[in-house]
Amino acid sequence: MPAPTTPATPASAPPAGRRPAPDRPASGIRFDHVTVTYGTHGGQTVLDSFDLTVEPGEVMALLGPSGSGKTTALRTVAGFVRPASGRVLIGGREVTGLPPYKRGIGMVVQQYALFPHMKVAENVAFGLKAQKTPRAEIPGRVAEALEMTGMAAYAGRHPRELSGGQQQRVALARALAIRPGVLLLDEPLSALDARLRSGMLAELARLHRELPDVTILYVTHDQVEALTLADRIAVLDRARLRDCGTPQELYRRPRTEFTASFVGTANLLPVTVRGPGDGVDLAGRPLTVPVPDGLAEGARATLCVRPHLVGLGDGPGHGNTLHGKITEVQWRGATHRLYVSVDGHRVMADVTELRTTPPLGEQVALHFAPEDAVLIPAGLTEDGARHDR
Ligand code: ADP
Repeated sequence: MPAPTTPATPASAPPAGRRPAPDRPASGIRFDHVTVTYGTHGGQTVLDSFDLTVEPGEVMALLGPSGSGKTTALRTVAGFVRPASGRVLIGGREVTGLPPYKRGIGMVVQQYALFPHMKVAENVAFGLKAQKTPRAEIPGRVAEALEMTGMAAYAGRHPRELSGGQQQRVALARALAIRPGVLLLDEPLSALDARLRSGMLAELARLHRELPDVTILYVTHDQVEALTLADRIAVLDRARLRDCGTPQELYRRPRTEFTASFVGTANLLPVTVRGPGDGVDLAGRPLTVPVPDGLAEGARATLCVRPHLVGLGDGPGHGNTLHGKITEVQWRGATHRLYVSVDGHRVMADVTELRTTPPLGEQVALHFAPEDAVLIPAGLTEDGARHDR
């Protein structure tokens, strides 16, 4: 939840046990139709009229495939990329032309970017010196930041004497030491192995609880990170903002096929609307699903149902039953994922109750409840406008 705006606090170490407040009031971020191009004569548009507001104290994840423009968006906030048009605002103040060090932001990137010749404490102090923090305050601020990230015992080491996870904590401490109003995180966990990544994810969630006034913009292509950490997720694809909402909204009620398949795994089946209150047809077979207003009889749509909401067998009376042949089975420890061909359409079902792996080619019934299905109108863009591709 976005935190209310708080007044600025003087730049001194807080009493023990109190979390340090940012030096600036909680600042939101606003992208006002930001367009970024690379190449001579604006050859490639990598961010196309990007319009997004991040509320003060909010964690916004920028989620999208590689090359969709996430890092570019983040770097326009940092001040490393200058938009061709549009404005960037932090805390209501336009910063589009302001150099990075004047923006009051902390930033952590994938590759840590620590200075190898400096000890941990010197690395953390770097941003404070650049910001001209009074010399007497620096040791306290460094200790505070290292404490927050669990690295207090490593102040005298060099980066090469630390593991990847520890180096990333130091990078985080360096970003937090300046008590930023805005924290920019660019794939901060992607260089870590799976176990470390999940530990750091929990750490970031804890830090956000301890620093609720800090606005966080978090770039990731990993939906688990976005679903776990973010208050809202902005979904990018091919230089454009495609969708934005809470993780629950995007997961439970995706508005586009892209969101449905990028935020979680989805069965996406082409259907035709029978009529309001009358469900849809899948390959000529009727299914009971809620039909939203505006979808008339005969309209094409995509039925979205999550694999874990598809059960094996006929199911209870009011549900929908599909019949098909198993084409692939993946054992995933806690579940089996069955791939079933239903009238030529692939349907995935994640089932937990199987003791043995069913054979390929077996005829099975699958079921899902009407309320677990979402209809996405065909040909709708993220703006709600129709396109005819
Ligand atoms: P993402 O973070 O989603 O992977 P990026 O914002 O890094 O995407 O990149 C978006 C597009 O911009 C990509 O096609 C990339 O090749 C291009 N790009 C990024 N930085 C530069 C640059 N400095 N010069 C030219 N093209 C760039």
